[in-house]
This record gives sequence, C-alpha cells and structure tokens, in this order.
Amino acid sequence: MNAIDLDRADRGLEDDLRAVGLPPARTLSQLVLRTDVAGMPLEWIDYKEAARLYTQDQVAYTCGSSLFQLYGGVNARTGRRTVLDVNSIIATVGHAGNPGNTRIDYVPPLNNQTLFRRDGYLCMYCALRFPARELSRDHIRPFSQGGKDIWMNVVTACRRCNNQKASRTPEQAKMQLIAVPFTPTYAEYIFLKGRRVLADQMEYLLAHFPRSSPLHDRIQRWFQ
Ligand SMILES: [Zn+2]
Repeated sequence: MNAIDLDRADRGLEDDLRAVGLPPARTLSQLVLRTDVAGMPLEWIDYKEAARLYTQDQVAYTCGSSLFQLYGGVNARTGRRTVLDVNSIIATVGHAGNPGNTRIDYVPPLNNQTLFRRDGYLCMYCALRFPARELSRDHIRPFSQGGKDIWMNVVTACRRCNNQKASRTPEQAKMQLIAVPFTPTYAEYIFLKGRRVLADQMEYLLAHFPRSSPLHDRIQRWFQ
C-alpha cells in the first residue's frame, strides 16, 4: 500500500514518497489511526496500544485495511492461539482522552515541524521549497511590534527571506506572503503530526478536513 512519509518529507526526500510500500512482513512500526465511535480522528497509536484496545473490547469497528496480525496467548478452554487482526483505522468506544475533536475552539500546539508541514515546506515569501532544516518560523508581525507566537501570526520562511524581513512586518519590508496562515483543525493537526500516513488513512483524514483547507492542494503539490 502506498503511503505519505512525512518523516522523509521533513528531510526533503520527496522523490518517491508515494511509492514506498510496506514490506510484505508489514512492519510493526506503522501507526494505527484511532477514531472515536463517531469516526472523528483522535490520535496515532502503536501496535501495542492497538492490541490493548482490541483485547479490552474497546474497538467498536474498523476501517481501512488489515495492517498486521498479532498473536496472543493460547486460550485455555479452546486450546487455540488468539490472533488479532489489526486494521489501519480503528474506531473505539469510551473516553477520547483528548478534547480536540469535540471542541470547536481547539487550538493545536504550535511547533516548527507541524508549521513547516502546514505550509507544505514552502517559504511563504519566495515560494521555494526547502527541507525542514533550512526553514525557520517567521512571525508576520514581529515580537518587537507586539506580534504573538500563534498559528495565525506565523509562517514558514527560508533563512534568507527571514533575514531579509528582519524585525519588520511584510508591508514594512515590502515583502508579500504567498498564502495566509491558518490554525489547523484537530483532524488537520492529526495529519500534520503523522509519521508515515498510509493511503487509506490519508483518504480518511482528508474527508475530515474543512473543504476550504489549503492542505488539500498543498498535499497534492508536495509530491509533484
Ligand atoms: Zn524564501
């Protein structure tokens, strides 16, 4: 199955992002997308957490494809070994443990990795694409002029543009933003935090993004 490998994208290795398939053995490092019972994306979990949810009957239903089979102990009554078939997307009952999917005013924490991914690794001034290590966080309205460190006031900038802009607003520096910043929704944030997002997980998350999300377009363009 194809995947979007965000860890590779961070490093600027975007050549064959869509071509990386899971090895036949289905590596256990692949994360599972957990949703609530209504299907709202909640978080990425590893195979151990997925196994715990399956064995504790917390899995309401599954979506996506079968990722791997986990073998448990032998059932004393039946003499059979328990086998868990773990899917790429699992809907779970019980507490979410994360309020993000229910609160309309939820604001995800800001960090450079998710910021650069939000902006598709493009410098929002010169429109060129860079690996994460060559990017920086620009405060549109600088701190020195009362600007805040929030999603709506930050964009991805290459070092050169950031230096050129210095402690000025874009207007003062006569520089133009190629796109307006936005605060990711919870579903968008789950995607931005992903490591290796399988095609079916991607499709699922995209369906939960706002229709107007710039990410629809940016995700397409990352891989061209
Ligand atoms: Zn630039």
